Amino acid sequence: MASESVKVVVRCRPMNQRERELNCQLVVTVDSARGQCFIQNPGAADEPPKQFTFDGAYYMDHFTEQIYNEIAYPLVEGVTEGYNGTIFAYGQTGSGKSFTMQGLPDPPSQRGIIPRAFEHVFESVQCAENTKFLVRASYLEIYNEDVRDLLGTDTKQKLELKEHPERGVYVKGLSMHTVHSVAQCERIMETGWKNRSVGYTLMNKDSSRSHSIFTISIEIYAVDERGQDHLRAGKLNLVDLAGSERQSKTGATGERLKEATKINLSLSALGNVISALVDGRCKHIPYRDSKLTRLLQDSLGGNTKTLMVACLSPADNNYDETLSTLRYANRAK
Ligand code: ADP
Repeated sequence: MASESVKVVVRCRPMNQRERELNCQLVVTVDSARGQCFIQNPGAADEPPKQFTFDGAYYMDHFTEQIYNEIAYPLVEGVTEGYNGTIFAYGQTGSGKSFTMQGLPDPPSQRGIIPRAFEHVFESVQCAENTKFLVRASYLEIYNEDVRDLLGTDTKQKLELKEHPERGVYVKGLSMHTVHSVAQCERIMETGWKNRSVGYTLMNKDSSRSHSIFTISIEIYAVDERGQDHLRAGKLNLVDLAGSERQSKTGATGERLKEATKINLSLSALGNVISALVDGRCKHIPYRDSKLTRLLQDSLGGNTKTLMVACLSPADNNYDETLSTLRYANRAK
């Protein structure tokens, strides 16, 4: 049961200009029909490629539209019916996480998972009969294990995690914003995005060193034929994780090194939680090991759906990082 609720797909992007200029070799290939991904060690050409199997494997020529329809659609549909769901992209900086989650406005087939999910939610809201919806959004950032409200009046203030016997884990003082349209959702997301803590690493100067969680909460109030009321609530977490690269490659020292250590810690906590859930035999799920996993506790495992998109570079000079992403993703399925 647990493995049904966690889906893991990989997506390999095309070579970028830098990789082409460096004459990089292609080390990743994919067999989409079988959900398989192969990686060749460039230092050991006589070894057979390592092989991994996932719920889906997408290559350079696949569009986000296809990933959404095949994998994300059922998860978001579940949220509009009152279930919790979490979607996140994992991978080193520059591997295509934002491309997959935020996407490009043009061509439409490459619009990201996030704007598609917004549209999906509001279409369901508009089509439903005898049903009222309350849709609210919140947006927070976890940076150095501190939680901040990206949509709050004071975006610098550190917020505390609290536990309530019925509500579970929540962020004290996190602002919730009622939203009525896709455009409103997009505006809110843009406002929050600009409030993130941005660090600079050698790999990608825009790379964000924080994790952020954009949550759409839906309360569904329906009246059945017999005139009885039903109230359900679903929650969709759209998680933008910091880059998974190891510190040595980013040239980090001092504050940056401290950041990187915390990033690695919460990513490994997330990996441990997901693999414990998938395993199904573990009685203890280590949610408490990081703020990220504590916050997502009610949306990972149990009656919820989780989708991880592991993003890969195809180039030989990223071999170690790509292999480590594949191993992380492989543990999660
Ligand atoms: P990350 O968010 O992981 O740091 P980005 O999403 O910013 O990485 O991707 C890095 C660059 O690669 C961007 O210029 C992006 O447009 C490009 N890119 C990523 N994935 C793809 C893809 N599947 N097809 C085309 N270009 C892509």
